[in-house]
Amino acid sequence: MTLEYTAAIRKALLKWFLEEARDLPWRRTTDPYRVWLSEIMLQQTRVDQGLPYYERFLAALPTVHDLARAPEDQVMKLWEGLGYYTRARNLHKAAKTVVERHGGKLPENADSLQLLPGIGKYTAGAIASIAFGERAPVVDGNVKRVLARLFDIDRSIDESATEAELWSLAENLVPRKAPGDFNQAMMELGARICTPKKPDCAGCPVQRYCRAWAEGTVAKRPVRKVKKRVPHKEIVVAVIQQDGKYLLGKRPPEGMLGGLWEFPGGKLEKGESHEQALARECREELGVTVKVGGLVASVKHAYTHFKVTLNVYRCTMQRGTPKSRVHTELRWVAPGDFAHYAFPKGNHKFLKLLGEETLFD
Ligand code: SF4
Repeated sequence: MTLEYTAAIRKALLKWFLEEARDLPWRRTTDPYRVWLSEIMLQQTRVDQGLPYYERFLAALPTVHDLARAPEDQVMKLWEGLGYYTRARNLHKAAKTVVERHGGKLPENADSLQLLPGIGKYTAGAIASIAFGERAPVVDGNVKRVLARLFDIDRSIDESATEAELWSLAENLVPRKAPGDFNQAMMELGARICTPKKPDCAGCPVQRYCRAWAEGTVAKRPVRKVKKRVPHKEIVVAVIQQDGKYLLGKRPPEGMLGGLWEFPGGKLEKGESHEQALARECREELGVTVKVGGLVASVKHAYTHFKVTLNVYRCTMQRGTPKSRVHTELRWVAPGDFAHYAFPKGNHKFLKLLGEETLFD
């Protein structure tokens, strides 16, 4: 990369960004807490989907001190539906660290930021460049695609060697002046112009510097590994009712959907019927014997790496008192109070049915 080539890309991209950037709330601030929150929320989340969450979160918890003091259930409720809940738990943990060890101020450089929970190289670079003006690069999914096309990279961007190469290209490109604007411009270009399908090369501010465009290889870039088929899991869910309330368990903080509330249940094992699986899950998870009743709903939900079908059955307790063996806490909750609990997204597809009185006649 010659200095002239680098300078020309920077100039064209920054000009375009300043003229065309979408007016988004986190672009109107350099408050490190707000920049940090937006970067965490927008990982694996589209801007239009993340926007209302961002505003709601800040209205409830406007400072890092408020976040550090907030109960975990409040944080999870504010995150409910956004997915990848580890992000919320790490954000909460990191806020406590920032308040306890740094007097409520985020560290001002990418290296120190990476010592906080949930802040990796990408997020650290974004916060450091946008909030503190450090010349730190960022490489996310959008930037990877832009770089692979701009430099016509014919190696798979899923390989770690290629990823290292992309980081090094980004490091060379990011300018000393306005590094935050430049990084946001790269991401914005990937989100709006250099899109995965049908990129708008005709309207692209860096088309004249794009090697894939010159070589006619845009449609072949970036090179990806062939994706495996998405596995499907059959899940059984027990809705156990007692005195108008339902038994909920809170998932342990580690792992998928950690800290969210759910109904007891689990994966169907090989050769099991739904009834057998429900009886086994209730025995193993809660230490109780249940009688399995009718099917309430069968709903499908897709996660990033697998799909599930949730087969929801009403169940009646026959023997034993539920004790938490898998969950960190169990609670009997009336449908009217469900709104105070954060559930995995798939649960919302059948939750409203549980408020209908006819269900448990
Ligand atoms: S010219 Fe096309 S492929 Fe190249 S960076 Fe612009 S939008 Fe992407």
